[in-house]
Amino acid sequence: MSTGKVIIFSAPSGSGKTTIVKHLLETNSNLAFSVSATTRKPRPGEVNGKDYYFLTNTDFLQRVQNNEFAEHEEVYPGTYYGTLRSEVERIWAIGKVVVFDVDVVGGLNLKRIWGSSALAVFVKPPSIEVLQNRLKARATETEQDLEKRVHKAISELKYEPKFDVVLINDRLEETFEKAHQLLQDFLTTAPL
Ligand code: ADP
Ligand code: 5GP
Repeated sequence: MSTGKVIIFSAPSGSGKTTIVKHLLETNSNLAFSVSATTRKPRPGEVNGKDYYFLTNTDFLQRVQNNEFAEHEEVYPGTYYGTLRSEVERIWAIGKVVVFDVDVVGGLNLKRIWGSSALAVFVKPPSIEVLQNRLKARATETEQDLEKRVHKAISELKYEPKFDVVLINDRLEETFEKAHQLLQDFLTTAPL
């Protein structure tokens, strides 16, 4: 089996990790996104196999039984997310660095698997108020789901010290610049 490097972006929902990951993927052809599996419904514009593999609960749990996941979690009650081993192997086989956008607990689980071949980045909002406002402005959740996400975000901020680096996402252009720097440092110095 091929092996390679991985970069993990984790953060409370609404911190901006998807925005950062998309930017890095658009500007670095040596990176490839690990498409996660989920049981949540697609948002408008999301494409199966590109944003997520959208699975039914039955299919997801069957794959858990078959040991197909490197990690998986019930991120929100009744909603599962997970990283398929086949996805990571697919990307390494084409010689690219795997980029993950996963929640905080999932990120730490992935870091535990790949150790020094992995860079675990904690993306942090400038404050909970800013995070709340960004989620509201994104307008992708119902009022109730938004509350669940903010509640979870507050408890996730505690995990920050367990990550390799913290990236504060205040002004987006500066965040992109810092993310590029982190990436270059990791690609040139980390062992395989
Ligand atoms: P996450 O993937 O962590 O849930 P997103 O990348 O979806 O977060 O960002 C949440 C919302 O905040 C999106 O609407 C995004 O466009 C916006 N956003 C992200 N970063 C910033 C920033 N630095 N300043 C203002 N808005 C931002
Ligand atoms: P969303 O529903 O906003 O796309 O994602 C909700 C949360 O699930 C985010 O924090 C996202 O990073 C996380 N997530 C996405 N894919 C995975 C995965 O494969 N594993 C885990 N543990 N979390 C994931």
